[in-house]
Amino acid sequence: MSTEPARRRMPPSRIVRAGEILELVRRGDANTTGQLADHLGIARSTVNDRLEVLLASGMLSLDGPTAVGSRGRPASTLSFNPRSGVTLAAQLGISGVRTAVTDLSGEILASTMTDIDVTTGAVPVIDVAIAEFGQLLERLGVDPAQVHGIGVGMPARIELATHAPRVDWSGETVQAALAAWRAVPVFVDHDVNLLAFGEHCARTDEPEVLISVKAGTVIGCGVVVNGKVVQGVSRLAGEIGHTRVGASEEPCSCGNLGCLNAVASGAALALRLRAGGVDAPNARAVAALARAGHVEAGLAVRMAGRDIGEVLASVVNLLNPAVISLWGYLAEAEDQLIAGIRESIARSAQSGPAGDVRIEPATMGADAGLYGAAMMVVEHALSPAAVDAYLLTMQSV
Ligand SMILES: [Zn+2]
Repeated sequence: MSTEPARRRMPPSRIVRAGEILELVRRGDANTTGQLADHLGIARSTVNDRLEVLLASGMLSLDGPTAVGSRGRPASTLSFNPRSGVTLAAQLGISGVRTAVTDLSGEILASTMTDIDVTTGAVPVIDVAIAEFGQLLERLGVDPAQVHGIGVGMPARIELATHAPRVDWSGETVQAALAAWRAVPVFVDHDVNLLAFGEHCARTDEPEVLISVKAGTVIGCGVVVNGKVVQGVSRLAGEIGHTRVGASEEPCSCGNLGCLNAVASGAALALRLRAGGVDAPNARAVAALARAGHVEAGLAVRMAGRDIGEVLASVVNLLNPAVISLWGYLAEAEDQLIAGIRESIARSAQSGPAGDVRIEPATMGADAGLYGAAMMVVEHALSPAAVDAYLLTMQSV
């Protein structure tokens, strides 16, 4: 079906609930007019009015006739068209920013990686991301009106403050700079939260409580409960890297002693191995050595797993999660890391929740942060209310 049929202008009352229809199709709960009418408890003719608008917008497409109905009549099926719009996603790091244009399923259509200097300030760095977004859209030939929103993942505030102590790196500053560029919803969050949300979206088992641990140069975690990221009252939930473990007096970047980051992060392991004469320049090298069977590196990762597990044992008792997913360089040495985490959780958590939790490598690899940022945009941009509002705007163009 053409995405540009002669457009019949619908009165606003005949768009209401179109967003709910889109959501039912997008989540795979219904894909025919009859199923939609049953789900919503409304007449088929009412569903058809909304479908007309959704099909004209290109957000839904009609496939078929592909299926045979109960009386042998061919039935057309509806499907969500993720290419009907795009998101702009960015993953900010300490030394670089990765920018991407994704479709509405979170699939990356094009991306770039650009070096940055976080000490120059948030606005100059966001200007770099904005310039990259503009070039990517141009390269793809995407109409800027198709951009549904912008999602940005940032390192934890403590981490940014360590590298750029005099710079305002608050999420609000980043959000304002992007909102001034383009009048679309902007979502800025900690990278660990977007990793967790992306993991939730990528999984098919929809765990009620999901803990996503980033075990890389630093350690952090994101918590998703019933599909929502737990932010905390100061948006600082998940900072397990700054929980004290054991009797260590190792100084941490936050000013305290013996934090998990100072003891078990990839950076800490690399430092310790180098002190022992091992050529381990960074977290990734530590994981590569462990995977290759290097005894000291393997032991270091396993010990780090035990320390991380010690902190996670409290999390397991507190939240009774279904899944702990592991992401980051240290997770590339998953055998040793998971073994260490399991040991500590089995020893220190209550047996019930400890037995329930599955500890697994993350579903997504290097693109996980961008995917999470894109899906955060999609989750909001394709909510029923947002879709109804978007269709009304389209109608008035
Ligand atoms: Zn600390």
